[in-house]
Amino acid sequence: MKKNSFLFKESEKYIPGGVNSPVRAFKAVGGTPVFISKAKGSKIYSVEGKAYIDYVCSWGPLILGHADKMVVNTIRKTAGDGTSFGAPTERELELAKLICESIPSMDLVRFVNSGTEAVMSAIRAARAFTAKDKIIKFNGCYHGHSDSVLSEAGSGLATFGVPSSPGVPLNTVKDTISLPYNDIIAFEKTIRKIHDKIACVIIEPVAGNMGLVLPKEGYLKKIRELTQKYKVVLIFDEVITGFRLSFGGVSGLFGIKPDLTCLGKIIGGGLPVGAYGGKEEIMKLIAPRGPVYKAGTLSGNPLAISAGIATLKKLKVKGFYEDLEKKGKLLEDGVRENLRKLNLGYTYNRLGSMSTLFFTNQVVNDYATAKSSDISFYAQYFNTMLKSGVYLPPSQFEVYFISGAHTYQDIEKTVKINYLALRGLKKK
Ligand SMILES: *Cc1c(COP(=O)(O)O)cnc(C)c1O
Repeated sequence: MKKNSFLFKESEKYIPGGVNSPVRAFKAVGGTPVFISKAKGSKIYSVEGKAYIDYVCSWGPLILGHADKMVVNTIRKTAGDGTSFGAPTERELELAKLICESIPSMDLVRFVNSGTEAVMSAIRAARAFTAKDKIIKFNGCYHGHSDSVLSEAGSGLATFGVPSSPGVPLNTVKDTISLPYNDIIAFEKTIRKIHDKIACVIIEPVAGNMGLVLPKEGYLKKIRELTQKYKVVLIFDEVITGFRLSFGGVSGLFGIKPDLTCLGKIIGGGLPVGAYGGKEEIMKLIAPRGPVYKAGTLSGNPLAISAGIATLKKLKVKGFYEDLEKKGKLLEDGVRENLRKLNLGYTYNRLGSMSTLFFTNQVVNDYATAKSSDISFYAQYFNTMLKSGVYLPPSQFEVYFISGAHTYQDIEKTVKINYLALRGLKKK
């Protein structure tokens, strides 16, 4: 038996579904997950010795590519001085300063261990600040796996929360309202009617968990205006987008100041991390400065924090994001040219180093249009790309990430394989 399938079978005996996060199991595309033995730069290597150009990049954190020399050396050096103290360190101050100085809406920041925790804690702060309970989220946005944001709800107007996972109490999601993304009318109607019950609105300002979906012109600005008017806390979940599209957040890119921001992924340089922060008047409520409890044995741990500092320092170098944009554009132009040559009308969304090819002819600007994609075509496409040495996310509803370590050759090669994979698609 091949090593991947052997390891997967063995893992299934000890780990539910054989994996520690569901999408990794390849359920949406079929086949056996690739077990990774090591990675360097833009490439990952399987236990069977095969190399892949990686567009998953650990789902976003690895903006410098795998095993970046400076990041790895920093982690090594830090580990030698102790991996956790449960006491404050100078490094936490350094990273906190770096973050607050690069994201203008963040006066104060608190570190946690994951994006899930960041969101959970930010919502608690918003509820404490407003003394209200309900939250508004948007269909297709993902905010980690804590109870109150695990409702997805159908389309339409102000659908009241239905848990999308068993085990989430109805009583928890009854306070979660999920609205269609990019539909300002639905949002305005809802907030006008029940703003006195709404603590916060949480949104991915550029959505990356239904595939890449961009906010419509003026959409975020209008959300900011309405939340301000009705005294509702606006939370930007920038766990993916923070330091991905520019140095700082999407908030800076669009010139919109949320009240709170959640971060994760990139700011940990590939180690487990999260952070949330924002306006002093809200963040001063966090214990021990205020009464809102939030703690963590390993929060602000030296390894993640120093990897984060090393990463951000490299991102700050002039030209880094311009280079990513060029590579993103090269991939986009290549894929679009292939689609044109093959007379296919699929939709390609891109912003900087994030992109998704949707197997639908519709414009994709919300969850419903994303879901119009033909996922059986995606599965075929994914598997052909994989066989040819390109590792894409094993789901239609995820983003391709380009890192600084991807070369122009990597992208040109990807474009060639993309042509063959698209040409070979068969209606089943
Ligand atoms: C990944 C992600 C999270 C959850 O972060 P974890 O570190 O996986 O808990 C939250 N929000 C967004 C937008 C994400 O992409």
